[in-house]
Amino acid sequence: MAKPVSSTCNLDCTYCYYLSKAMLSDGPGAGRMSDEVLELFIKQYIDGVTGPEVVFSWQGGEPTLLGLEFFQKVVALEKKHAKPNQKIQNDLQTNGTLLNEEWCEFLKANHFLVGLSIDGPKEIHDYYRITKGGKPTFDIVFNAAKLLQRHGVPFNTLTCVNRFNGRRPLDVYRFLTQELNSTHIQFIPIVEHKTFEKAAPQTWDPAILPRDGEPEARPGYPNSIVTEWSVDPDDWGYFLCRVFDRWLDRDVGKVMINHFETLVAQHLGLPSLICVYSKNCGKAVAVENDGSVYSCDHYMYPEYRLEISKTAGSVTWCSLRRRKDSVRPRAKPCLNIAANVLIRPIVGGNVRRTGSSAHRTANRD
Ligand code: SF4
Repeated sequence: MAKPVSSTCNLDCTYCYYLSKAMLSDGPGAGRMSDEVLELFIKQYIDGVTGPEVVFSWQGGEPTLLGLEFFQKVVALEKKHAKPNQKIQNDLQTNGTLLNEEWCEFLKANHFLVGLSIDGPKEIHDYYRITKGGKPTFDIVFNAAKLLQRHGVPFNTLTCVNRFNGRRPLDVYRFLTQELNSTHIQFIPIVEHKTFEKAAPQTWDPAILPRDGEPEARPGYPNSIVTEWSVDPDDWGYFLCRVFDRWLDRDVGKVMINHFETLVAQHLGLPSLICVYSKNCGKAVAVENDGSVYSCDHYMYPEYRLEISKTAGSVTWCSLRRRKDSVRPRAKPCLNIAANVLIRPIVGGNVRRTGSSAHRTANRD
């Protein structure tokens, strides 16, 4: 995934894990991706894909802040560097607030798949998803969804399950499927360590980490290590179970939900669609605005920074793989984490680091 505008965003969602990246010392900082880095990234990524399909995922911050011209340039560069018979696709994750007719025409014409962030009906969505001035955003986002539908732009909905909506699964599900008519739903549990703004995953002392079920591992307790807005583990389980029952009852075959698709896939012996359920993760490499590369955007901390080559090399892209079965000893108590980045260095790059893990794990109307 690419972060061409880094953490810059027009919203101020309470639970956002990325806004604080602008304050990291030795991080990429704010600002947009230069034309030089953009072309280098697109060329290297295309060069590094051996299959017939290349998928670019554009995220932020809020990538639409870059304006349509930036993405027109993206499409032109992709055409310039595409190999014969190669299909290039683009995903755009957005809060939807800047989408208008012109954007929708562009997205439709260039076959973009949109990921729209929306957390449920108005009183739920507006609880955490607010503007810099603290204003609600639901009405704008809902209108953006309707605009996308009118233009025939395909979109998924991305719903963060947090401490507030975690207890209202059926209100959320009813809204997404019946009011928004979303047929492709992603649920992401919000679980953040209180020190997430500065401390990278796997830098916590495992000796003092609470165990699963202990109050310190849940939001709202005096000594809790997670943020107030993190979803309670029991609520997350309750949320998934209630949605699953309703989905099974009414929507199997009509509505795709990331966790249930993964459940079925893994039951059939196929790979997981979600990294935290995978034996190995690390395929979602994140490229920041300055060309720096991280093994995952949840690992966007200086300790985990890799580099993209600034010279036109021959072999150019990096391959990362995290292996749960080679997790570092101190992280072993957590069975849901993935670890140990294995890196094939990129030519001319400054790739470093082995060993790390993912910290997001999943665990109630
Ligand atoms: S829209 Fe996304 S990037 Fe912007 S503040 Fe909200 S969660 Fe963060």
